[in-house]
Amino acid sequence: MAKKALCDNCTALCCRYFAFPIETPKNKGDYDDIRWYLCHKGITVYVDEGDWYINVRNKCKYLSEKDQRCKIYTDRPRMCRGYSPKNCDFTDGTYGYDLHFTSDKQMQEYIERKFGKAAAKKTKSRKKKQKIRK
Ligand code: SF4
Ligand code: SF4
Repeated sequence: MAKKALCDNCTALCCRYFAFPIETPKNKGDYDDIRWYLCHKGITVYVDEGDWYINVRNKCKYLSEKDQRCKIYTDRPRMCRGYSPKNCDFTDGTYGYDLHFTSDKQMQEYIERKFGKAAAKKTKSRKKKQKIRK
């Protein structure tokens, strides 16, 4: 009997999201922009070793739900080819995030703690005015 590969025991966790770096927020407006990302479904934001990332939870359209396999395996993108089960979501699933935001409310509270409640409200009302002017 052929030896089972690690991926055979996994539900293809690595094919269900993608993440990319974003600029480190510098002022309350930047933090509020991140709050806006977090208003969207399936978005989380995390900080790892001081770098900020946005995580988009959205399954790859080439992942077969029938057998959790890639439908374009031999032609999969470079990003997928470079991903190794030696150090992946399944084998090394515990990440030590510096910060991890899973909702806009969480970011709102963080802004209030970091800049004070009044500052967070001011940014909010300025954004509202900009929207009305459009
Ligand atoms: S590389 Fe890791 S996360 Fe991806 S399918 Fe294989 S075991 Fe699962
Ligand atoms: S192309 Fe294949 S290996 Fe790459 S994310 Fe999609 S299903 Fe996974």
